[in-house]
Amino acid sequence: MIMYNSNETTNETANETAKKLIETIQQKGLDKKINFLASLIEQHTKGRKLSTRQIEVANNIIAERALKENDAVLLEETEGFEKLTAKFSKALEKQGQLKGVKIITSIITLKSAKHSTVANPIIYVLGTEDKVYYGKIVNSLFVAVSNVNHARIAVITNELKEIQGDLSKAAVSYGKRFGICSCCGRVLTDPTSIEAGIGPVCAENWGF
Ligand SMILES: [Zn+2]
Repeated sequence: MIMYNSNETTNETANETAKKLIETIQQKGLDKKINFLASLIEQHTKGRKLSTRQIEVANNIIAERALKENDAVLLEETEGFEKLTAKFSKALEKQGQLKGVKIITSIITLKSAKHSTVANPIIYVLGTEDKVYYGKIVNSLFVAVSNVNHARIAVITNELKEIQGDLSKAAVSYGKRFGICSCCGRVLTDPTSIEAGIGPVCAENWGF
């Protein structure tokens, strides 16, 4: 963000300031969105000087919008998901990166992103029931989306911490509770698998 000095008095600098302002407005396409800014461009194009006040107001509008845009991408981050990342890394290595791997719990579904690698797994975090995308784990950092309320993100983050403590236990308890394999989502039909709460192939792939 370029800052403009609206107290500048020399004509040349004021002109330069106005020119920069006009450029910024056009670059950001703000003249298409805000009539006031469009009128400034018109004024400037007609060779009429922008007043200090006009420049100041315009800069405030631009700054406010920049702030809002930053807000929209301002994400909540929680570190410390090394263990979970390592598990995904191993499972990806076993099952192949293209196919991808996932873990389902009653609260969240974790899925490796298509562009994951064994060295750098990217794990999408979705709600199991609501299918809402809550964010992703990248470089062991859970980066939550901003358009979900804080309390819900806290629940999701807690679940992530909980299952990371013992991923095998989380998978098995889901399997036992719902009769579905936590790793592949298939219904457990084999009595041994039902008893174990997980399919044998998935257990092997995940090292549970
Ligand atoms: Zn399975």
